[in-house]
Amino acid sequence: MNRIPAAVLTAGLLFCFAFSAGCGHESAPIADLVLVNGSVYSLAWGEPSEDGTIADDAPHDASGWHPDAEAVAVTGDRIVFVGTTADAQVHIGGTTRVIDTAGAVILPGLVDSHAHIQELGREKVQVNLVGVQTEEEAIDRVVDHATDVVPGGWIIGWGWDEGAWANRYPTLSLLSERFPDNPVVLRSLHGFAVWANRLALVEAGIDRETPDPDGGRILRDGSGNPTGILIDRATTLLTSAIPETTDEQMKEFVLAGLETMARDGYVAVHQAGADTQIMRAFEELEAEDRLPVRVYAMISLRDEPLCRRWIERGPKIDDSMLTARSVKAYYDAALGSRGARLLEDYTDRPGHRGVSGADYGFDQELAAEMMRAGFQIGIHAIGDAGNRETLDFLESVIHASPETKALRHRVEHAQVVHPDDFARFVPAGLIAAMQPPHCVEDKTWAEARLGPDRVKGAYAWRTLRRAGVPLTFSADLAGSDHDIFYGLHAAITRRDKERQPPGGWYPEQAMTAEEALRGYTNWSAFSAGWEDRTGRLQPGKWADITVIDLDPLSVGESEPGRLLDGRILSTIVAGTVVFEDY
Ligand SMILES: [Zn+2]
Repeated sequence: MNRIPAAVLTAGLLFCFAFSAGCGHESAPIADLVLVNGSVYSLAWGEPSEDGTIADDAPHDASGWHPDAEAVAVTGDRIVFVGTTADAQVHIGGTTRVIDTAGAVILPGLVDSHAHIQELGREKVQVNLVGVQTEEEAIDRVVDHATDVVPGGWIIGWGWDEGAWANRYPTLSLLSERFPDNPVVLRSLHGFAVWANRLALVEAGIDRETPDPDGGRILRDGSGNPTGILIDRATTLLTSAIPETTDEQMKEFVLAGLETMARDGYVAVHQAGADTQIMRAFEELEAEDRLPVRVYAMISLRDEPLCRRWIERGPKIDDSMLTARSVKAYYDAALGSRGARLLEDYTDRPGHRGVSGADYGFDQELAAEMMRAGFQIGIHAIGDAGNRETLDFLESVIHASPETKALRHRVEHAQVVHPDDFARFVPAGLIAAMQPPHCVEDKTWAEARLGPDRVKGAYAWRTLRRAGVPLTFSADLAGSDHDIFYGLHAAITRRDKERQPPGGWYPEQAMTAEEALRGYTNWSAFSAGWEDRTGRLQPGKWADITVIDLDPLSVGESEPGRLLDGRILSTIVAGTVVFEDY
């Protein structure tokens, strides 16, 4: 049992008084579920300062962090009590389920605020190429996976790293040799490149006569024939030839993805782009009461008919499992594949600056209409030009329609920001939705793309914090591993899973343990407009709770490398235990 400081016991009593008008009185509501003997971090104390300094009222002293409560009681979908195990007893009745957490750490439920949930589910049926180092290794995995594919059947894979492979892309030769009778399409990790065999190109009607589309490239050999690699917007020439996912398959993918998140400790995901089919899956699953975790759906701006329907209908904001008050757009592409729009040339490709805006399919008019209809917009912006143009756009809409500022628009990734532009986020009320895993995964090539000066404005969490910009964290799954312990470790150390580099990559941008945890809890709540409903463990808030086996604040502060050994013990969503493995 962790010791509980006296000041914190008082705080627990205050919670109790506030809610039930007196602990120990018969007026205390009998709870459905009570977690006892835990190490609770409610996050109900003051926010850290912009340089990470811990608030005066935080449960932290010279010896480090101390949990601020021991027990949480839940009735229906709400928290009714946070305090000591002794004081929790009045909430226990004959029908109460009591879980002795034996010192486990009880946190506000974890939220991943930028996810592509259907891709997680899709992994189950597609070839997983994450981590492959060579062309041969990738093809071996495809061979192992595709044992029962009939001639003519499509083989789909994903996960090779377009950033790491950008200087030595494979070709269609070996892939075509091994798979002469099946179209094979292998999407890259972040979706900005595809690698195909000859039959897939034939099926898609791509040959030497096919021109490069706007914002994309078909790589070609010396005689002009496609090599099998398509970049940025050219990827859709190929992926649009793949037989379409049926509604039923999509629903399976979505459910499998959400179930994975529940097992991995998440109580909610922000879906960064939901088209008609994905929205249908969410809405059906909600109607059938089968959503295992909450979904904050960001409607895809690329699906205009869907946007039109939601403009008509208006945002859906309530206490149900599905919220739809946001729209997701792309302003530019990715840094790894050199599609992100830069103000100056790529350091490792003179004369090239990437694509953005209308050239990358950004529909300015529709985006502004969605904002005026009451939807938050989250705009994917990677390059310093992509970010600057995104800021220009958002400022212009807010200038013309000042009421839209309160919607708290988001810059998704805000990955490379010019030094002059950091100060523009706050006046426009913007949030930066960032990915700790991106930083530690991209570090091997990001500096090559950007050079030594621009890289200082990349993955610049601290600079954004110092400028007063609210952050929210995520993995951008399935492109990066959404494991929370990896995410916290990356945020705190700027080191990868191999704990490299030892001192962290540009460690001056690292977050404190508390900031890292808030990035996945109450800061995420703020980015969804949910701060009155969740993000902290307090009476009246949603009963969304994550239980883990190590103390992310103490361990994160004193020996963050050990975070990678953490384990999820339980996930509770709206008062329902959706995962449990103590
Ligand atoms: Zn994304």
